[in-house]
Amino acid sequence: MLLTDKTAVISGAASARGIGRATARLFAEHGARVAILDLDAAGAAQAAAELGEGHIGIGCNVADLASCRQAAEQAIGAFGKIDILINNAGISQPVKTMEITPEDWQRVVDVNMTGVLYLSQAFIPHMRARKQGSIACMSSVSAQRGGGIFGGPHYSAAKAGVLGLAKAMARELGPDGIRVNSVTPGLIQTDITGGKLTPEMKTEILKGIPLNRLGDAIDVARIYLFLASDLSAYVTGAVIDVNGGMLIH
Ligand code: NAD
Repeated sequence: MLLTDKTAVISGAASARGIGRATARLFAEHGARVAILDLDAAGAAQAAAELGEGHIGIGCNVADLASCRQAAEQAIGAFGKIDILINNAGISQPVKTMEITPEDWQRVVDVNMTGVLYLSQAFIPHMRARKQGSIACMSSVSAQRGGGIFGGPHYSAAKAGVLGLAKAMARELGPDGIRVNSVTPGLIQTDITGGKLTPEMKTEILKGIPLNRLGDAIDVARIYLFLASDLSAYVTGAVIDVNGGMLIH
């Protein structure tokens, strides 16, 4: 049990096969009370109910600062304190540079990158006051290798932005006892690809993965667990690859 008496907020944790949902389950197994935040409010409530008593689901759009502030107020009100924030919510879109419309750009950047800033801003004053906290942010191998797997260039740009943002927050918030780290997963089998990833594409991708399998949501959840727990007490500003060796650098 690595999270006894801890409380955690996880964004984008409603979707059934998603990384956030797997993380919520793992954190609950390790003793944490979990607040599931998601654009899908009903899904968030259902996911929390499935975890059992003591967990909560809150509707939240991470791309909207007022919505993030409201969710933070609700979560802090329900649990009394928040120890862990997992900035996990994200969206993708498989398009090429010239196909990206201004609306696509805005949406993908807003959810994947601005959402990390807004939700962090909503919890930082509380964490600062308590002089402790662990924030983990979802980036992607797409940020490091220039996309080319599923998401478009706007997705790569947003996820690369997350790395800079998280490192800068780590530097700024370290003196307040708040750690900020990022994860960069490779291809993880969830529903984010919306059925657009063909078996042929998967076979092709597998050729470049030394561990010879695609990732599962639990593979990423375990790294979030490490970053959330005291096992990583002296780790901040770090980026942890979870890609089966797809990118070794
Ligand atoms: P998913 O689609 O299963 O889960 C994403 C969740 O985010 C959904 O529950 C969705 O409702 C929620 N969401 C979307 N927009 C939101 C918003 N504005 N506010 C709040 N919640 C919102 O996908 P997943 O694969 O589990 O993705 C989780 C994260 O992991 C994303 O940030 C994604 O970019 C990242 N990621 C995924 C992979 C992969 O291969 N699956 C690889 C690298 C990074």
